[in-house]
Amino acid sequence: MPDTMRAFVIKGVGQTAVVEKPIPEPGPNEAVVRTTAALICTSDVHTVRGAIPVPADRTLGHESVGVIHSLGSAVTGFEIGQRVVVGAVTPCFACLPCQRGFTSQCQGMLGGYKFTTQMDGNMAEYFLVPAAAANMAVIPDDITDEQAVYCTDMLSTGFLGVEHCELQLGETIAIFAQGPVGLAATIGARLSGAGFIIAVESRPERQKLAQLFGADAIVDFTAGDPVEQILALTGGEGVDAAVEAFGFPQTFQDCVRATKPGGRITNIGYHGEVPEPLQIPLVEFGLGMADKQIYGGLCPGGSGRMTRLMRLIGTGKIDPTPMTTHRFPFSEIEAAFEMMTTKQDGIIKPLIQFA
Ligand SMILES: [Zn+2]
Ligand SMILES: [Zn+2]
Repeated sequence: MPDTMRAFVIKGVGQTAVVEKPIPEPGPNEAVVRTTAALICTSDVHTVRGAIPVPADRTLGHESVGVIHSLGSAVTGFEIGQRVVVGAVTPCFACLPCQRGFTSQCQGMLGGYKFTTQMDGNMAEYFLVPAAAANMAVIPDDITDEQAVYCTDMLSTGFLGVEHCELQLGETIAIFAQGPVGLAATIGARLSGAGFIIAVESRPERQKLAQLFGADAIVDFTAGDPVEQILALTGGEGVDAAVEAFGFPQTFQDCVRATKPGGRITNIGYHGEVPEPLQIPLVEFGLGMADKQIYGGLCPGGSGRMTRLMRLIGTGKIDPTPMTTHRFPFSEIEAAFEMMTTKQDGIIKPLIQFA
């Protein structure tokens, strides 16, 4: 058995490399997973651009599945060799924020997001799982690695945006941007019984996927003010709920403008790329009295959530894999990451396959 592995790391701002590292050893409550499939996330692109300060040689990645390679002495209920999925957020499930139900805020703001920010990520041949008993979910036989890996972040985050909308059956929803997280929100909106789903997107290949996943109407923001178009599509009323899945100041404001009084605005976009305060348009916010709610969140962690997401795949209700536009062996990770950085060739999600 080898004792070293290859890992895709950040060297410094704008610099990445594949390096050899020791295969991790699990502590009592940890596990080590041998990676079989992974997805590159735009969050990794943000990290390499310097959004989050991380030390040199920190492994990137937080969207991986694999098989259990070794188990800590205190981890029960699992066996070596089982296929498992691990969420992008890996909370401790013991601290006060976790006990309050906000596992993504484990040990402090955004602290549940541990891969790459606090420890090595999982774009590597092996990875460590903290609080393994609570964070690993066994992948059922009828679910492929490719399907399961979408549960780690894309489905979990996209669905969170919809869950926070607290839709009633038949309500209207607008989802701003149909990148992979926005597309997952579209899948979630259909599952949640939205009566009319508007997807805001300009790229034709993403518009097509949005329709496949359940969008009833497409709004192309390059063809005019998206809010005007949404108002026209809803008889001047606006939508019951709007999801910000883009992470841009204007888009956030558009979500407030596009909702009717009593509407819900949920944010799952990352707003670190344009570091200026978000603004709330006063008139459309009813001068503060329109009964609108704004909720921003980061996907929760845990095996329970992963198991629920996989159940939707296993029973055939959803299949996220049409988002996989490209496939690469791990030996070509740097080329794949470059494509994800420049968004060449209509890329949505590149699947990384491990030998
Ligand atoms: Zn991600
Ligand atoms: Zn915690």
